[in-house]
Amino acid sequence: MTLTDPAPATRTADRVTDRTSARAFVDTHVVPYADVYDRAGRVPEDLLQRVAEAGLWAPFLPPGSGGAGMDLVTLGEVHEEVGRGCSSLRSLLTVHTMVSWTVQRWGTPAQRERWTTLLGSGQVLGAFCLSEPGAGSDTSGITTTAAESGGGWVLNGVKTWTTGGQRADLFLVFARTAASIGAFLVPREAPGVRVRPIHDMLGTRASMLAEISFDDVVLGPDALLGPSGFTAGMVLTGTLDLGRYSVAAGSLGILQACLEASSGYAARRRVGGSALRELPLIQAKLSDMVTDARAARLLVAEAGRLKDAGESATLMATWVAKYFASTAAVRHAAEAVQIHGANGCSPDYPVARLYRDAKVMEIIEGSNEIQRITIAGQAEREKTT
Ligand SMILES: Cc1cc2nc3c(=O)[nH]c(=O)nc-3n(C[C@H](O)[C@H](O)[C@H](O)COP(=O)(O)OP(=O)(O)OC[C@H]3O[C@@H](n4cnc5c(N)ncnc54)[C@H](O)[C@@H]3O)c2cc1C
Repeated sequence: MTLTDPAPATRTADRVTDRTSARAFVDTHVVPYADVYDRAGRVPEDLLQRVAEAGLWAPFLPPGSGGAGMDLVTLGEVHEEVGRGCSSLRSLLTVHTMVSWTVQRWGTPAQRERWTTLLGSGQVLGAFCLSEPGAGSDTSGITTTAAESGGGWVLNGVKTWTTGGQRADLFLVFARTAASIGAFLVPREAPGVRVRPIHDMLGTRASMLAEISFDDVVLGPDALLGPSGFTAGMVLTGTLDLGRYSVAAGSLGILQACLEASSGYAARRRVGGSALRELPLIQAKLSDMVTDARAARLLVAEAGRLKDAGESATLMATWVAKYFASTAAVRHAAEAVQIHGANGCSPDYPVARLYRDAKVMEIIEGSNEIQRITIAGQAEREKTT
């Protein structure tokens, strides 16, 4: 199988509006090719184009801005389905979602006018640049600077592990200003922006990671999102929360994929005259996958419902959902490999990729150590208020 997705274009039928249409899209255009993309280290252009035709890049944007006004519960279901098929593609959707949502939520009318339709249609792809070589979990340690100059800004610094950085057209960059930390929209073609691809990661290998350096990049005053000094708390918290929600849903997708692969394999594979699925120890593994998938789905849906209702309790619900779903995905991906035996270690079955991708979920959008600290802190506050 080649890197080109040979499935015939079915443009109208491919429009994704809910879980059912997302499932059909993923089963047709993603599942058969995800291992090919993983080995190639990139998602091909024709799939990115198909995602655009399906309206998948930012369906939560209002109609008229390239979106479909999709609610966030449905968006979670769609990202679960994409994550079931390919975590690399889901990662690209996640960071694009973060950029599009941030522009829509905090952009000035002029910024929205300039970017939302392009982002909604997928003509412009976004990437999220927070992490640096010296600052990951501790975002207060970032050293990229944005200095005011001539009414605009001059950006200097290095961002790393930028998902989609090899391909993105627009970077949402967090940089230190005199006042606090600001969020800046930086077009890829701005002079002084350099992109260095990062290859051969453990998981999400097709998500086209890059290190992005900014060397005296001159930006206009309209590059800053939100009033100066305002962004540090609001934009970062809100944007990371939405990214985390997408990762929770994507982790659930991995878990569901492990379940589907394992139950299929356990039905076919025979040992000692019976199918694997008839063995009590294998049944125990499958029943734990079913149980955790159902629990994770409820947690993700609850986080989405609270987002749609505009309730701040969604932050805690999203931490819990991401923590639960990502740890369950790692546990069950390991069991899925176990159920497949040597086949599970080979490139012929998807579970090895699912296992590698699952591990990444415990690190991104707030590592699970940070999630646990945050969940415990919030639980304590809820007890005392
Ligand atoms: C595949 C992939 C894609 C990514 N995509 C992006 C992206 O698009 N944009 C972006 O900005 N970043 C991205 N990242 C970076 C990611 O957000 C960071 O890796 C993550 O925030 C953790 O930071 P770190 O790797 O620097 O680990 P560190 O912060 O150095 O932490 C190392 C370890 O120490 C633990 N730790 C840290 N602080 C504490 C504490 N207080 N108590 C206990 N334990 C602690 C951590 O949990 C971790 O296990 C990506 C990473 C990966 C692997």
